[in-house]
Amino acid sequence: MPEFLGPIAGFGVTFATMFKKAETELYPEEKKPTEVRYHGRHQLNRYADGLEKCIGCELCAWACPADAIYVEGADNTETERFSPGERYGAVYQINYLRCIGCGLCVEACPTRALTMTNEYELAGDNRADLIYEKDALLAPLEPDMTAAPHAMAPGLSAEDYYRGTVTGHEATAESAAEPAVEPAAEPEAGSAR
Ligand code: SF4
Ligand code: SF4
Repeated sequence: MPEFLGPIAGFGVTFATMFKKAETELYPEEKKPTEVRYHGRHQLNRYADGLEKCIGCELCAWACPADAIYVEGADNTETERFSPGERYGAVYQINYLRCIGCGLCVEACPTRALTMTNEYELAGDNRADLIYEKDALLAPLEPDMTAAPHAMAPGLSAEDYYRGTVTGHEATAESAAEPAVEPAAEPEAGSAR
């Protein structure tokens, strides 16, 4: 190209863009769905009867490169059981001011307690509101679920839960009232949801 055309060629992109249809996204009035594997807000999952999958092991917190997760585990008791096995996550916080959505915490979780949803509207007008507590992260109760604490389903062990054999129908009012009797057990890595 001759040198004298250089300044004119520089406007080529400008002129070409002037005649293209504008791609204006009308967010937030019109929200586009994300890709299915988009890393959005986290979720702490439950078993089918409502017991929590989190065992308070802190592996997610240790895996997080942004130090965005804080976990305090505690022991389940005979009268107050939040998860199958020995321990549960008593305090669980994710700081969305720090989270970079990398998903390493999900990879580290041995019980598939932690997954990520497609929810991306994580904004606030103050810092405190962006530290999500356990109650904001726990999966909603579905019709067959009973909110923890309650006993494990009769006849099922913690291993049965980890293998995913529990169903919501086993969490009867009777089992919710009875103390838990199953011994504590460690989960297997990569166990079923
Ligand atoms: S997605 Fe990444 S940055 Fe966010 S909490 Fe998990 S490990 Fe930390
Ligand atoms: S790694 Fe999973 S089970 Fe362990 S504290 Fe985190 S969410 Fe809970």
